[in-house]
Amino acid sequence: MKEKIKITYDRNKCTNCGNCAAICPVFFESKDNQTSLKNSQEVDGKHWLEAEVNDEELALLKQAAKFCPVRIINIEKN
Ligand code: SF4
Repeated sequence: MKEKIKITYDRNKCTNCGNCAAICPVFFESKDNQTSLKNSQEVDGKHWLEAEVNDEELALLKQAAKFCPVRIINIEKN
C-alpha cells in the first residue's frame, strides 16, 4: 500500500555530505558535490516534494533523515 507524504529539505543548511543520496537515491541525488531533492519545488532555498511511497521507500527516507548530520530532512504524512 502506498502512502502520501511530503518531504521537505532546507537546502540553505545542507552540507552536501551526500548521505541522503547514498541512502535514498530514489529521492535525493548528489552531483558535483551538490545535493538535491529530485523533482522538488523550491521557495527561498526550502525544497519540498509531495509523493506516494511504499513501505520500503518510506523506510529509506526515514533513514536518510536520521543520518542527515544537520537534520534538515523532514517527512510528514500528507
Ligand atoms: S544528508 Fe543532510 S546535509 Fe547531507 S547532503 Fe543530505 S540533506 Fe545535505
